[in-house]
Amino acid sequence: MNALPYGIHYGRMLISFELLFARRKTMKIAVYPDERIIVKAPKGMPLEEVKERVLRRSRWIIKQLNYFKQFEPRTPPRRYVSGETHLYLGKQYRLKVKRAEQNRIKLCGGQFQILLREDPSPRKIKSLFDRWYAEKAEEHFAASVDRCWPAFEKRGVSRPNLKIRRMKTRWGSLSGKGNLTLNIALIRTPRSCIDYVVVHELCHLIHRHHGSGFYRLLEQFMPDWKKHKARLETLPGILS
Ligand SMILES: [Zn+2]
Repeated sequence: MNALPYGIHYGRMLISFELLFARRKTMKIAVYPDERIIVKAPKGMPLEEVKERVLRRSRWIIKQLNYFKQFEPRTPPRRYVSGETHLYLGKQYRLKVKRAEQNRIKLCGGQFQILLREDPSPRKIKSLFDRWYAEKAEEHFAASVDRCWPAFEKRGVSRPNLKIRRMKTRWGSLSGKGNLTLNIALIRTPRSCIDYVVVHELCHLIHRHHGSGFYRLLEQFMPDWKKHKARLETLPGILS
């Protein structure tokens, strides 16, 4: 029999598990080093009860996941040299450093061309990159808010101001003062992930907390949000 995928919410976290009904008396939860969670439940146990029991073990599950996480290889620090790849809107582009009249970055032919007047130094390239990403973030994040806003406008809420910042642990936030803050690192993720974070934060205009009303609304505005959230979580080393 095949295991079926399910998910439950624990605070901000989505715990995804595979469920297998088997001929057994008790339920068993196992967490594996590849972060897979497998739940074996006695045949006939109602799904609601299974979810309830998994939820009760959430803290333990997260502890196991964190335990395994410490063994994951860390993404190597960026070195800003030719041949290294960098992400933009979810795609990897290889760096190519070239001499030129002017310092600038050009995205062309599947490559990040770094045009430099002077000898290439990682510091110089990094600062060019930071500026380039900041410009692109402004353009794409504003476009994302424009795309997502019409559905919210009809709800009579007022449009928040967009702010872009570097954040260590969050993709976005919405303040009571009406600021929608997006993490500049989102510019490395696909457009659909940027939209997911924007829609998530805009839903907070209507529901402040992550209750069932919040998730109903999110589901309504973006039925496939879980896919985009999962994608964000698998992009390596962006939030570090
Ligand atoms: Zn939230």
